Amino acid sequence: MRYEGSVFRPPSEAYSLIIQATIGCSHNKCTFCSMYKDKKFRIRDIKEIEEDLEMARNYYSHVKRIFLADGNALVLKTENLEKILLKIKELFPECERVGIYSAPKDILRKSVEELKHLKKLGLGIAYLGVESGSDEILEHIQKGVTSEEIIQAGKRIVSSGINLSVTLISGLGGKEKWLKHAKESARIINEINPHYLGLLTLLIQPGTKIYDEVKNGEFKLLTPKEVVLETKELIENLNVENCIFRSNHASNYVALAGTLPNDKKHLLKQLSSMLEYPYGMKDEMLRRL
Ligand code: SF4
Repeated sequence: MRYEGSVFRPPSEAYSLIIQATIGCSHNKCTFCSMYKDKKFRIRDIKEIEEDLEMARNYYSHVKRIFLADGNALVLKTENLEKILLKIKELFPECERVGIYSAPKDILRKSVEELKHLKKLGLGIAYLGVESGSDEILEHIQKGVTSEEIIQAGKRIVSSGINLSVTLISGLGGKEKWLKHAKESARIINEINPHYLGLLTLLIQPGTKIYDEVKNGEFKLLTPKEVVLETKELIENLNVENCIFRSNHASNYVALAGTLPNDKKHLLKQLSSMLEYPYGMKDEMLRRL
């Protein structure tokens, strides 16, 4: 396999074979994201992707999962995704799931029938960065889509039978809009009802627009305590069915995991006790409380 630049994948794809179907991100404008800043977006030639799969077959004796990177790999035409999935079936009959990063506009360019077809060929999970449910915040972070477009895209994936894993980012509304961020994010998640919901915490990376906004005082970061309050507000407002919730990424102050709605009370109790006795929060963060 040949890799170009830094390669990113969701935590749940840690043991997957990663194949770059695209290089970089077709959007590449989100103000908080530094992942693909060094890459000029392009879709790889289908032949190159097939060659990478062949190389991987010669190298690995058992491949359980394959993840198609980079950002927005679902941007590929359905016929090309079909070719890749068929090649995977031919070379890796043992592969149980193929995952992909997807963006709302790319999802909406495909019909439910096309997505169902891709599901039949092995596409098992799509990852979608929702970030926030607030249109004001989505505009501020230059996500390039509205909450309505995200809802329609998320619902389309769910109705195709492909598992949907979405992420939100705590703190993305800053001090000014944290409540709106929590409530509106709960609203969008309730509408989509994804299979998995991951909550990350905003990390400020040099070289991003949001880094400059923090430096010049335009954007005020939440304290860890405020992040916990925001998470509590989000979970209180979530009304989903059978959704696996995780907030245990390295960026999170408090590690949370459960299935909603069954574990809602337990998660809220954990957050309340964090606010009273924040022993579970990382030491360095506690000093900032
Ligand atoms: S957050 Fe996702 S869509 Fe936005 S620039 Fe980064 S990779 Fe692209």
